[in-house]
Amino acid sequence: MIDRQPIDTYATRISEEKQTSVITGATASTEKRQSVLFGDFPNTHDLRRLAGQIKDHTLHHLDHYLEQAEAALSRNGVKVHFADTDEDARQAVLSILRDHQVTQLTKSKSMASEEIHLNPFLIDQGIEVLESDLGEFIIQLDGDEPSHIVRPIIHKNRREIARTFQRAGIARDLNDDPEVITRRARAFLREKYMQAQAVITGGNFISCESGRVVLVTNEGNSRFGMAPSKLHIALIGIEKLVPSDRDLGVFLNLLGRSATGQQLTVYTEFISGPKDPTQPSGPEEMHVVLMNNGRTDVLASDGREILRCIRCSACQNVCPVYRQASGHAYRSPYGGPIGAVLSPLLFGDRFPELADLPKASSLCGACNEVCPVDIPIPDLLLRLRDKAKRAHISQPGDLPMAPFATLATSPSLWRTAMTMSKAMNHLPIDVAPFRPIQDWLGQRTLPESHGGDFRKWLKNRSKEQGLRDTPQ
Ligand code: SF4
Repeated sequence: MIDRQPIDTYATRISEEKQTSVITGATASTEKRQSVLFGDFPNTHDLRRLAGQIKDHTLHHLDHYLEQAEAALSRNGVKVHFADTDEDARQAVLSILRDHQVTQLTKSKSMASEEIHLNPFLIDQGIEVLESDLGEFIIQLDGDEPSHIVRPIIHKNRREIARTFQRAGIARDLNDDPEVITRRARAFLREKYMQAQAVITGGNFISCESGRVVLVTNEGNSRFGMAPSKLHIALIGIEKLVPSDRDLGVFLNLLGRSATGQQLTVYTEFISGPKDPTQPSGPEEMHVVLMNNGRTDVLASDGREILRCIRCSACQNVCPVYRQASGHAYRSPYGGPIGAVLSPLLFGDRFPELADLPKASSLCGACNEVCPVDIPIPDLLLRLRDKAKRAHISQPGDLPMAPFATLATSPSLWRTAMTMSKAMNHLPIDVAPFRPIQDWLGQRTLPESHGGDFRKWLKNRSKEQGLRDTPQ
């Protein structure tokens, strides 16, 4: 878990350069999504609802579908492992690697592996792990953390990336032309692909009918990783199951469009197990580690709808809070609205301080509108806020919310405060006793107070109309 300040503190300290990169990247993705999705599907909302229903059905019958998936994968020659906790998942991966004496591997982008901090764990065990997704590779070179589900370096601009390459010795000179950067990364990574003894991937979907593991990338890096490796390990959350191959059509149509505004992600791989003898290359052995890590607890909670998530990032891109604060502010691999719900549910037992994340929302509803599986994110945020309040984890105990709560729940105090609030317009906030107010106002713009004028107006209006329930 990333150790950082609360989201509002982090957001006020973010550099302008970083904020611009996040806003530019998120806005571009949102605009592309809008034109491709609505241009291609006049009944987009019906499709989103259908996708949500398929996911809900699968989650309601998860035990049945897990059995079906295990059987189908095994029929395809895949070895299936179940990992209940993050530690179980790390140990399952390590034990497979040890059985094959793997000392060097490549890894394609996987949120499940971020969730369990797989890279640092394997590196501590003496295994060389190289991220093959370009964004994740840059993150690895920088010792940074991804800040977006789909575009892990959304917070960096090309000048910063060029500087990283130079610092890491991948480039001798500073050249921030994206094509040059990509060519340099490609030359470096190709050699590593050929040396790797294994490849670790995630998985976007598993069809329980055929046991196909579906993997989408835009760089073809997982495919490159698999071609020379003898061993393939896919680490996948148990919520990634879909009942049949036919359902994949619904999700793949929505995923590319919602994530990057593409009709289909450039490389969409359907992996049906290890290579068969007629194929010239590919892993001879394939393992799937199905990871729980708190998902069954989420399923049993009243926030279960979040398990429908297909990690498209559309809610991050559209969220006004994410755009201002960046993904790092959410202190977990999952930033934005998805993270504000998923992180406290998945990691809240170990990191109770994440209970403040659901407050990082204006509840504007944009996240629900763009979600391809129709997750009612604002409702879930409200449920989590309520839960945190009941558990006394997050209550209005700090300034200014504690005095505000007292004020707002007492009609007479409220009336007096409103009358006196006109004085706020003339407070000399730059003198010592008022400094805390100045700090607070430094992050907000308050309209001029009219000190209870609305009450007077409403009282007069009620009188004119002969209404009995006038405000006190
Ligand atoms: S919650 Fe919905 S919009 Fe957000 S990442 Fe998941 S599927 Fe995409």
